[in-house]
Amino acid sequence: HFISFEGTEGVGKTTAIEQLCARLQANGIDYLRTREPGGSPFAERLREILLDPNTAINDDTELLLMFAARCDHMQQVILPALQRGTWVICDRFTDSTVAYQGFGRADGDATVRGKIDTLIEQFVTQLPELTLWLDLPVLEGMARANKRSAADRFEQQATDFFTRVHKGFRTLADEYPKRIQRIDASGSADEVSARIWQKVEEKWDI
Ligand code: C5P
Ligand code: MG
Repeated sequence: HFISFEGTEGVGKTTAIEQLCARLQANGIDYLRTREPGGSPFAERLREILLDPNTAINDDTELLLMFAARCDHMQQVILPALQRGTWVICDRFTDSTVAYQGFGRADGDATVRGKIDTLIEQFVTQLPELTLWLDLPVLEGMARANKRSAADRFEQQATDFFTRVHKGFRTLADEYPKRIQRIDASGSADEVSARIWQKVEEKWDI
């Protein structure tokens, strides 16, 4: 099975993913933990470029590099894992592209959204079966994120950028209510983890 995690900065994806993986392991489920942009050797190189604050590229170039990274990651890592029956747990996937490049950069502009949807349709052969959107007020997340390491090229954006990204995730959750499950990301890590496990158990009857 294929699960993705989504959300704005500082919502606690990393901890939530670690805890889900621990539960899968405890249940004897074979899983692969991966992330985007990145996840394969070549895509990790693109990640470095994409997150480097010194990178100066236009929005279309950024969008295409995200898909170049995703294409390699999918073909080299995700599809082979799914074919051998391994669960794939991915930190961000196509929804982040709609949210960051579509809403953060372009405020949901229909032309940009059209480009993204076309790229998904043409190049993404496998969408996640379950997407866990960790939802937290933007300012709360930013306060959490500011406590950690140096900001990457996206984390340096102003609050309105993340407010638009958040709107992007909300829009997607309305568009795909079956695949995308909203998780209340407030409270302790254990509380969030329990909310997530409930969704996974409910879907696959573990
Ligand atoms: O999840 P994490 O914070 O590690 O993601 C790396 C960075 O890439 C983030 O700053 C995120 O906002 C950005 N990103 C993006 N567009 C994507 C995927 C990730 O801007 N499609
Ligand atoms: Mg980050």
